Amino acid sequence: LQLTLAILKPHLVANPLAVKDIRNLILNNNFKIIKWRRHNLTLEDAEKFYSEHKTKFFYNRLVTFMTSGASEMYILARENAISERENAISEWRKLMGPTKVFKTQFEVPTSIRGIYGYSDTRNATHGSDSEESAKREIAIFFPEFDYE
Ligand code: ATP
Ligand code: MG
Repeated sequence: LQLTLAILKPHLVANPLAVKDIRNLILNNNFKIIKWRRHNLTLEDAEKFYSEHKTKFFYNRLVTFMTSGASEMYILARENAISERENAISEWRKLMGPTKVFKTQFEVPTSIRGIYGYSDTRNATHGSDSEESAKREIAIFFPEFDYE
């Protein structure tokens, strides 16, 4: 079964109605919540999680934001009664919309980032971009989770 790691970022978690709305979106789009937790990222978590972005101009901003308050991490799978397609990763990214928030607000206004994104950094949610990343990211926040 394909799994993905979704994160509701701090500005979203600070807004209980937004969290409720996103959870409904998750469940109404045939995702199943395998595990979830609320956790305030430590600097160590953030540096590990975003190590691929270490050299980017937005890295400090990103790490500061991601450690600024509680996030919620979800391990998601997708249930599809018709076909058993393993598409949790791409379907969650589709629901989130593109990274760049201002473009997204015009192009995909009904996506999560279209609705709840404030800026390219505070873009509401995270979603793994491949099976390899999902495995790596799940291990960071759910070290006891047995992937198989
Ligand atoms: P995510 O990995 O969070 O699902 P993504 O894969 O769409 O998002 P990445 O390129 O992996 O985007 O960037 C990781 C995170 O870094 C983004 O979610 C965003 O918070 C931040 N970020 C990316 N690009 C920019 C930018 N140009 N300016 C500011 N912050 C950015
Ligand atoms: Mg990414």
